[in-house]
Amino acid sequence: MKIEEVQSTTKKHRVASHTHIKGLGLKEDGIALSIGSGFVGQEQAREASGLVVDMIRQKKMAGRALLLAGAPGTGKTALALGIAQELGSKVPFCPMVGSEVYSSEVKKTSVLMENFRRAIGLRIKENKEVYEGEVTELTPEETESTTGGYGKSISHVVIGLKTVKGTKQLKLDPTIYDALIKEKVLVGDVIYIEANSGAVKRVGRSDAFATEFDLEAEEYVPLPKGEVHKKKEVVQDVTLHDLDAANARPQGGQDILSMMGQMMKPKKTEITDKLRQEINKVVNRYIDQGVAELVPGVLFIDEVHMLDMECFTYLNRALESSLAPIVIFATNRGISSIRGTDITSPHGIPVDLLDRLVIIRTLPYTLAEMVQILAIRAQTEGLSVDEESLAFLGEIGDRTSLRHAVQLLTPGSIVAKTNGRDEITRADLEDIADLFLDAKASAKLLQEQPDKYVSQ
Ligand code: ATP
Repeated sequence: MKIEEVQSTTKKHRVASHTHIKGLGLKEDGIALSIGSGFVGQEQAREASGLVVDMIRQKKMAGRALLLAGAPGTGKTALALGIAQELGSKVPFCPMVGSEVYSSEVKKTSVLMENFRRAIGLRIKENKEVYEGEVTELTPEETESTTGGYGKSISHVVIGLKTVKGTKQLKLDPTIYDALIKEKVLVGDVIYIEANSGAVKRVGRSDAFATEFDLEAEEYVPLPKGEVHKKKEVVQDVTLHDLDAANARPQGGQDILSMMGQMMKPKKTEITDKLRQEINKVVNRYIDQGVAELVPGVLFIDEVHMLDMECFTYLNRALESSLAPIVIFATNRGISSIRGTDITSPHGIPVDLLDRLVIIRTLPYTLAEMVQILAIRAQTEGLSVDEESLAFLGEIGDRTSLRHAVQLLTPGSIVAKTNGRDEITRADLEDIADLFLDAKASAKLLQEQPDKYVSQ
């Protein structure tokens, strides 16, 4: 088995504004620090989330899910991310919004399934036996002992490899020849060659010219056993969706994905149920062999009230699966109707799903907390803002929303730069506060001047 770099399909842009959140900021006894791990305030919800983390660790959350209920901008996404971070730095976190399931091309349940698989990690471990050494020119005597000399053998590729134990001739499987060319290996380069797969990695560069290899593969010459120079453990973290996506669009190369791809001919460009099942089979085999382990992550579904009955039915079933991530829902709705029906229910969620939920409430921030959050965000984004401006931005946040205030930081820094300063001042923020409307102000304007806008 060979493992090369697998492209990650993580939705990085969605978590970009929460990079300062490094955990839940709790003390050993589970009590929240007033500021900790990038988190400010919201102590009760953080402490409750800490208990949920304990339940997850003790495997007491199976078949259940968490609901974060509270007004927009009260840190629900931040809490969900904090929970994922507490579970481990390599635990996948997949955020989505309920309305994402409505697409004209993909089935609702397929969108949900994709996001479930984005939130399930797989840690693949492999012990690689490798030759490590510097590529050398072969001496004339050495060249004579082969049919073609350096890289010119008819039956096999012969390269000189200078290792710590001295120079040796390596007769290589001709398929390795392609890898040597792909890696543009030159005389003087330091390379690794994996003993069991023949994959070549160039780890150092020489100035020498490449020797053109051109030969036909005629005979398979496996790497000699017992000459292994070094062992190294390679760990790779991927999600089930990374594997799905890579096999739907094979990237070539001799990696785990293309190997899986070869087993699943014809190669498809679409992720089908069949492909997912095949991937599951291979994954289960790796797990049985002890080569890989599952890392359940966190799936965060914001605005869960946007989902309809079909989605809720799917979720109920998916939560029961042995391959389920931790699911965290969020909503700002009270009693409302379940989408597409006349049934009213708390948070617009059907009672059978509500029964499975642990619910945590988030509360609005005080002005001082908003200012502190803004200060942390400014620092994370490498922006300098004076105290007066932070206080002013805090007031804007209090009047509009925290998110709006945070979003004004970047345009504020651009205005400051335009004015030849690195530090954002109150005047810069006053300028942009007039330029950008927050959601509430925009809605008010629409209500006051309905005749000026087109409506259906
Ligand atoms: P919600 O999901 O409830 O709408 P959110 O977590 O998405 O809230 P935003 O409204 O996007 O929060 O908040 C704006 C910014 O403030 C984000 O960068 C978010 O990480 C940060 N933030 C929110 N709550 C806190 C908190 N208690 N401590 C530190 N940062 C926070």
